[in-house]
Amino acid sequence: MVNNWLKIIQRNLIPPRCVLCGDTGFADLDLCAGCLGDLPRNLCCCYRCGEPFASELALPSLCGRCLKRSPQFDETYAPYLYRYQMPYLIGQLKFGRDYKNARLLAMLLGEHIAAGAELPELLLPMPLHPKRYRERGFNQSIEIARHLARRFDIPLDFYSAVRSRDTLHQAGLPAKQRLKNMRGAFRLRKTLQADHVAIVDDVMTTGATVSALAGVLKQAGVGRVDVWVCARA
Ligand SMILES: [Zn+2]
Ligand SMILES: [Zn+2]
Repeated sequence: MVNNWLKIIQRNLIPPRCVLCGDTGFADLDLCAGCLGDLPRNLCCCYRCGEPFASELALPSLCGRCLKRSPQFDETYAPYLYRYQMPYLIGQLKFGRDYKNARLLAMLLGEHIAAGAELPELLLPMPLHPKRYRERGFNQSIEIARHLARRFDIPLDFYSAVRSRDTLHQAGLPAKQRLKNMRGAFRLRKTLQADHVAIVDDVMTTGATVSALAGVLKQAGVGRVDVWVCARA
């Protein structure tokens, strides 16, 4: 409580600063208007997996990959591309433990959600394998999801889904192998009391990991699974 008041007073006395250039923050963001405008948006993309389209298409559209083989999740909200300053903003949170970036990323993602997503009943941050969690000391997806849960008043569940297998690093694996590599990677230790769930993560690459988790949720009876990610690679 005291901590909260201190934060409020601090924010009013010291306006936010841009984490990229040091200028005054824009609209309570730790980012100035210029740097915000420079972030690469992902506006024309596949509504299911968030893959950016090379040319302008009538929306909503599905990408070739989703048409061929649909992932286990239903819709993806990925407002930015994993380019330019996004890897830095996410990397500073993930590896530099810059917690204010979790707030910033959640605000950026939250603006996109507020503009048009149907809100789920439950937010589920992408779980880390316990070994990775021990190494890193925290889960960046939980840190981002915390802010979103508060903003939209949606319960946050970081207990029920477990990453049961420490999967090989996905980067560098071909798409087919990524899917195979993810088999049996997640389990639920508790059934979810929700029909519509959104999985929260920092970045989505091919979607194989999040599809594996969505598959486990669907098998457990969840009707709709959306994906909320800050950036799409
Ligand atoms: Zn700036
Ligand atoms: Zn797609």
